[in-house]
Amino acid sequence: MTIELDGAQGEGGGQILRTALSLAMCTGQPMRITHIRAKRQNPGLMRQHLTAVQAATQICGAEIDGDFVGSRQLSFKPGTVRGGHYAFSIGTAGSCTLVLQTILPALLFAGQESHIELSGGTHNPMSPPFHFLQRAFLPLLRRMGADVELSLERYGFYPAGGGKLHAQITPAGPLSPLHLPERGERLQAYAECVFSALPMKIAERELAVVKQRLGWSEPQLLLREIDRRQGPGNVLLVTLEHEQVSEVFVGFGEKGVAAESVATKVVKAVRGYLAGNAAVGPFLADQLLLPMALAGGGSFTTTDWSLHAATNAEVIQRFLSVSIRHEKRADGVVQVIVSPM
Ligand code: ATP
Repeated sequence: MTIELDGAQGEGGGQILRTALSLAMCTGQPMRITHIRAKRQNPGLMRQHLTAVQAATQICGAEIDGDFVGSRQLSFKPGTVRGGHYAFSIGTAGSCTLVLQTILPALLFAGQESHIELSGGTHNPMSPPFHFLQRAFLPLLRRMGADVELSLERYGFYPAGGGKLHAQITPAGPLSPLHLPERGERLQAYAECVFSALPMKIAERELAVVKQRLGWSEPQLLLREIDRRQGPGNVLLVTLEHEQVSEVFVGFGEKGVAAESVATKVVKAVRGYLAGNAAVGPFLADQLLLPMALAGGGSFTTTDWSLHAATNAEVIQRFLSVSIRHEKRADGVVQVIVSPM
């Protein structure tokens, strides 16, 4: 039976589509989605969403209708998921990582290994930067039993794009539940300012804010100038490694925005996370729901339960027999439990 989804529900953004594609492939259930991205300023499929649709179609030989830029509805009838060598190009700075996250769950259960090459944006605002996937998301997925390796060939910044990443996915059987009640002891903390075709002064000013506001020492502050041809671009990445989980906080240099403002925003997010005891921040919270639901269970504590997470939970529960519950504790930490129905 076709699962009917309203793309205007909850947050009304692109995640409804991506989660629906992932789970249609994993469960073999056809789906139809209307009002795609209805609550965004530019509704319908954009290049990143269309590439996710095309990638999904290709890896499972789906029957599809509505796959064009601007489309507000889509029917997707999945076939058998096949691993193998695939290359997908977004053609704009649209996020490679979001396309990868769409097809990754299905490829974990394919009959053979996959090698995926993705071109487009690798460090974009409003999506997981490559380093977030590599350091925060994938290590947790590996603890659930997934075998995924990721490498970055070239940075792709907004608006030029042109980045490239590779993923190797080796199917390794069903995922196991993961429980993350706390983050554990701090192991490492560092900030990297990556920049290309921009004055080094910008990067130095960003790191100076981190140093001063977080009280960090020089060895924790890393300047990384990359090849001019990958720019112009600037990303500030703050990585916190704890025993149970790593988190990556990100800020992007923008024309007309002072380097200090970019860094101050990142520092604020880092401080917010460090002020509490929750295991994960809001982004890992919404991204862990799907793998935990596929694993048939899991739990974590988080700083926030976002509308994005709530919407994702609703879509997941349309495909899988799981219950996703959350509860705010007295200390402000949100406890999330994914359990079989
Ligand atoms: P739209 O809503 O315009 O369609 P979209 O398709 O890019 O946009 P969203 O629905 O907003 O996507 O989903 C964005 C995803 O990116 C979410 O899963 C969110 O957790 C993730 N994300 C956003 N910012 C960050 C960040 N700074 N670090 C890690 N992940 C992020």
